[in-house]
Amino acid sequence: MTAIPFFDRTRVDAPLEAELTEVFQRVLRSGRYILGQEVEAFEAACAAYLNVSCAVGVSSGTDALIVALSAHGIGPGDEVICPAFTFAATALAVARVGARPVFADIDAASFLLDPASVSAVTTARTRAIVAVHLFGRCAPMDALHALAAPRGIAVIEDAAQAFGADLGGTRAGALGTVGCFSLFPTKNLGGFGDGGLVTTPDTALAERARVLRAQGTRRKYHHELVGGNFRLDALQAALLRRMLPHLDARLAMRRHLAARYDALLASAGVPVSAPSLSPGHTYNQYVVRVHGGQRDALRAFLAARGVGTEVYYPEPLHVQPCFAGPGAVAGPSAAETSLPVAEAATREALALPIFPGLTEEEVTRVVAEIAAFPGWSST
Ligand SMILES: *Cc1c(COP(=O)(O)O)cnc(C)c1O
Repeated sequence: MTAIPFFDRTRVDAPLEAELTEVFQRVLRSGRYILGQEVEAFEAACAAYLNVSCAVGVSSGTDALIVALSAHGIGPGDEVICPAFTFAATALAVARVGARPVFADIDAASFLLDPASVSAVTTARTRAIVAVHLFGRCAPMDALHALAAPRGIAVIEDAAQAFGADLGGTRAGALGTVGCFSLFPTKNLGGFGDGGLVTTPDTALAERARVLRAQGTRRKYHHELVGGNFRLDALQAALLRRMLPHLDARLAMRRHLAARYDALLASAGVPVSAPSLSPGHTYNQYVVRVHGGQRDALRAFLAARGVGTEVYYPEPLHVQPCFAGPGAVAGPSAAETSLPVAEAATREALALPIFPGLTEEEVTRVVAEIAAFPGWSST
């Protein structure tokens, strides 16, 4: 019984060793290791791919969110609506800039922000909605813009998991006021360490983002804004630019494997629901719902059979100690205390292996192991 890893970058990176080594040598010989031409070239390539006018390379996806929020002038006294079911960085970035994260519930079928719940927690202090394109699928941007636009609220895309995803042909990163990407190794466009990107059609906002990433300076030792060290390394940018031409083929592999899972799960006769279909989905994660309270038992069974899985995410954000505990930044409002759809998702969601280089045979075996779970007889 061979193990099936939850994630393995070496399968697609190993064949690129020669070209990546060449990139490393180029940067080494340039002697310029932070920002500079390599970062500018990467930014231009991303802007072209995403079809958005401005792209600003930063140090991580979390920092992309901090820069985007700061570039909007969001801070103390402001509220920012986030889904309760996402990676914590979405809301931690809001708290970092001194604003208050306000949590909204998600839609059961898509795991994405529910516009009705967003509307219920919107107040006069709401400055932005963070639309998270969770698992590689775009949030319902039309409905969110319809809520936000009349109130002058910004719609910030947390596109950390969705490089290359689209909604009706418009790519993530070009769908909101500003887009925030992570280039962490597991993301769709994964680097060789930490990295991030801020995108926007607004040139003034992009200029503020550039100033913010470099300690608030436009010219050396003259600090216009309270920024940070949010710069992207030249080596990271150069390696990522070499990965970009491979992205579409890798997204096609993810979609192909997802379709295979969909078909196999549909005929497996088990109480596991596949993610609902969506044309622009990039399947950064393939997340099923396990019914009958069996998620953790199924996960343990799969682990014993050598199949790696993950739980994204085991606790909703509105109950995390940093947001809800004593002295936390955000005492929850009445509307936030119970977010039942997000809470159910934390008990039922299970991410199955999906990554470029995973084989169809492996997907077949994962589903066969799921079908063989002895716990089904007790549900
Ligand atoms: C990965 C991720 C982030 C943070 O990105 P980092 O590069 O790890 O800082 C933010 N939001 C979501 C939804 C993510 O998945």
